[in-house]
Amino acid sequence: MAGLIAPVARLIEEFSKLPGVGTKTAQRLTYHVLRASTDDARALAKALVAIKEEVAYCSICCNITEVGVDPCDICADPRREAGRICVVEEPLDVLAIERTGEFRGRYHVLHGAISPIDGIGPERLRVRELIARVGNGDVEEVILATNPNLEGEATAMYLADMLEPHVAAVTRIARGLPVGGDLEYADDVTLIRSLQGRRQVDRS
Ligand SMILES: [Zn+2]
Repeated sequence: MAGLIAPVARLIEEFSKLPGVGTKTAQRLTYHVLRASTDDARALAKALVAIKEEVAYCSICCNITEVGVDPCDICADPRREAGRICVVEEPLDVLAIERTGEFRGRYHVLHGAISPIDGIGPERLRVRELIARVGNGDVEEVILATNPNLEGEATAMYLADMLEPHVAAVTRIARGLPVGGDLEYADDVTLIRSLQGRRQVDRS
């Protein structure tokens, strides 16, 4: 960009890589940081690096956890039902469901959904870890809470096939969530209804 000095152009470029951030917003954020105190800028930079260095993945549920805290708080909590696993796409979905207070089981985070268009197959997700978890036969129910869009439905159908031989009940959260939407943006009431109305997956 003409008239832009290199450090400014660089930060605009980095901000533009963030989801939902266009060039205009990236420019606004950059000039905001420029006006901010050096301490604030440093705190932002530190937080960005820390998220890569201080965040690890739980060896049981694959959700994010602090480095050195494994299993994560939810997996380690003896009050949570070990026989019920809610499968979600992203860590933010765990937060959304936890916010409702409706679910007392444990989670499994896939870190994505099957998307042939984007070349994402099940091998790119944490599916193997999920199958291993249910393999010992102690799990009574797996609730498939992937997003109600094309990729989420495809993922749920794939998982239902894989899980059915190992688990008594494989259920899918009820419709009622906005189709094509994201779980993390659903309001609590809709999410609670969707969990309460879950049904055995029909593969016929
Ligand atoms: Zn965990």
